[in-house]
Amino acid sequence: MAIQIDGKAIAAQIKDEVRARIEQLREQGTEVTLAVVQVGADPASSVYVRNKKKACEYCGIISRSYELGEETTQEELLALVQSLNEDPGINGILVQLPLPSQIDEDRIIGAISPSKDVDGFHPQSVGALSIGLPGFISCTPAGVIQLLRRSGIEMEGKEAVVVGRSNIVGKPMAALLLRENATVTVAHSRTKNLAEVCRRADILITAIGKPKFFTGEYIREGAAVIDCGINRDENGKLCGDVDYAEAEKIAGAITPVPGGVGPMTVAMLMVNCLASLELQQA
Ligand code: NDP
Repeated sequence: MAIQIDGKAIAAQIKDEVRARIEQLREQGTEVTLAVVQVGADPASSVYVRNKKKACEYCGIISRSYELGEETTQEELLALVQSLNEDPGINGILVQLPLPSQIDEDRIIGAISPSKDVDGFHPQSVGALSIGLPGFISCTPAGVIQLLRRSGIEMEGKEAVVVGRSNIVGKPMAALLLRENATVTVAHSRTKNLAEVCRRADILITAIGKPKFFTGEYIREGAAVIDCGINRDENGKLCGDVDYAEAEKIAGAITPVPGGVGPMTVAMLMVNCLASLELQQA
């Protein structure tokens, strides 16, 4: 039976570390402020935004909310981003995705100052990660690395298979595992013999958005299985990309959904808010 990796506990540990550092900074007269921008009132986005603000409050990071109507134009949002870029009282800028269809997400992401890009989505942040320069790292894959490290799972020299190649999860995940000296394979919807490829993995990271897709036949005995998926099953219950009940019998370690990667994403956002101070001073 696999060891369950407790993302909630590890995320709590990380938030406590951030909180302690923020407290020290405050004693020295430095505050950290995150601007949280939401356009429209998508219910899922509202939940994410609320969780992020709650984490800020816990860590002692000031969050400033900018709630814009569904009809907001691209120009209006660009103008807000520009003013936040120029505001020395703002350290990090988070624009909650997805944005309404009249707004080009790439335009907005590209308009955020790379020194305030706490989501790590700006092309400059992505480029910095791939060539090993300092910069913000996308929170979900950064959280996966912390889960592995803090669970004592060795990455160096290991076969890691990442399934999914999105810009916010799969691709940065692969870059980070490479930086940890794993041997990395990135699989996607055109990969042939996916189960066979996955069974090579000492570390299997799933990020495809398909409920319980990865059954036992995808998993190597004793592998670490990290499930980034957040889906609803046929009964509307939250579940990951991995069929947990089957996988836990074969894997050596596994993350649950919920309570695995999800809480880490928010914790790493807090780490990035703290890092924004250093990046702005650099
Ligand atoms: P995307 O839809 O952007 O990307 C999905 C990827 O999975 C694509 O690369 C696609 O391949 C691949 N894929 C889809 N179906 C298959 C298949 N049958 N076999 C192999 N590969 C497949 O998703 P995201 O990366 O944004 O998100 C993935 C999951 O992670 C979702 O469940 C999402 O909710 C969750 N997520 C969780 C976060 C968290 O905080 N824990 C944060 C962000 C996302 P191709 O490129 O060929 O189309």
